[in-house]
Amino acid sequence: MHPATLPQASSFNPLSRLPEELAQKMEEAGEPSFRGRQWFEWLWRHGVLDYRAISVWPARLREAMAERFPFSRVAVVTQQTATDGTTKWLLRLADGERVEAVYLPHRWGDAVCISTQVGCNMGCRFCASGLVKRIRNLDAGEMMEQVRVAHAWAERQGRRLTRVDLMGIGEPLDNLDQVERFFDLVHEPLGFGISYRHLTVSTSGLVPAIYRLAEGARPVTLAISLHAPDDALRTRLMPVNRAYPLAQLLAAARHYAERTGRRVTFEYAMLEGVNDSLDQARRLVRLLGHFPCHVNLIPWNPVPEHPFRPSSRRQVEAFLEVVQAAGISCTIRREMGQTIEAACGQLRRRGEEAWTSP
Ligand code: SAH
Ligand code: SF4
Repeated sequence: MHPATLPQASSFNPLSRLPEELAQKMEEAGEPSFRGRQWFEWLWRHGVLDYRAISVWPARLREAMAERFPFSRVAVVTQQTATDGTTKWLLRLADGERVEAVYLPHRWGDAVCISTQVGCNMGCRFCASGLVKRIRNLDAGEMMEQVRVAHAWAERQGRRLTRVDLMGIGEPLDNLDQVERFFDLVHEPLGFGISYRHLTVSTSGLVPAIYRLAEGARPVTLAISLHAPDDALRTRLMPVNRAYPLAQLLAAARHYAERTGRRVTFEYAMLEGVNDSLDQARRLVRLLGHFPCHVNLIPWNPVPEHPFRPSSRRQVEAFLEVVQAAGISCTIRREMGQTIEAACGQLRRRGEEAWTSP
């Protein structure tokens, strides 16, 4: 390939592209299409930082690619590991914005929790991420970058990353095009090869986007942040409930379960004296009825800017019992990374105080 024959590619970001798209770029430039698959493989499986490291390419190709298709990896600003192995990264994107990713070691398969936006516009009253309004969406390549950092760290520890949760900073369904592209990129066997069933996307409840996601028919797990058993309280905690109240949200969840065959998870962060009474547990049971779902009770991670307190362990367990007694699958999420401020958005806020933007 001669540099002159390569198409101008200023807006072409190879980190957001599938193997077939990279193959097409190669073909357009008169190269064999298998070079596109190699491109993908070396970007992700080998995690090269530079085209010059792609040893299966002739030198002239490496040079030409470096000139025409530059790419920016994320930079790790800080890394913190808690005693339980939970590891959290503050990452700097190419334009200087920062997001977080968290590695969660589990007995049933390690996961990384990634961000999908810089900030979040949903304004949930209990969340640190929403304290910073959305500055921009991440593109699929920036989501892949978070997985790459986690994957490389896992390899160094002799661990295996098998799951990805879209539960970091941002509302994934407010950025659905890039999120769906990310699903296909991370699923690709030439790269990380993570099965759709091991991907979880969490939403505050953007109903039209849930229907769109269902149309894609990828069997990813949908997690819905519920946090209240009635509209009045949910609207107080999550303004999105005004636009998409519970009846609409549950209908969308049911549709998703039917279309994909996947059981939906409902997340419920336990806030003392706000949503944790046993009467509210019974209302939650009535709300969910015979829906084939799973309820995840989350010990609320204190955020100093918000006026809540986490429920006591005893109250969480009593709540759990009521839900389970009704035949609904329900667990308490293990508290992880207590020593490293694992509540999403917290490290970024701390980081903002400690580092000034470049
Ligand atoms: N925006 C999406 C995904 C990111 S938040 C969503 O809201 O679903 C991931 C989960 O963490 C959500 O269930 C959210 O409600 C919950 N969460 C937010 N702040 C929290 C905190 N301080 N402690 C515990 N859970 C929190
Ligand atoms: Fe945004 Fe989710 Fe936080 Fe709500 S809980 S502000 S949707 S990140």
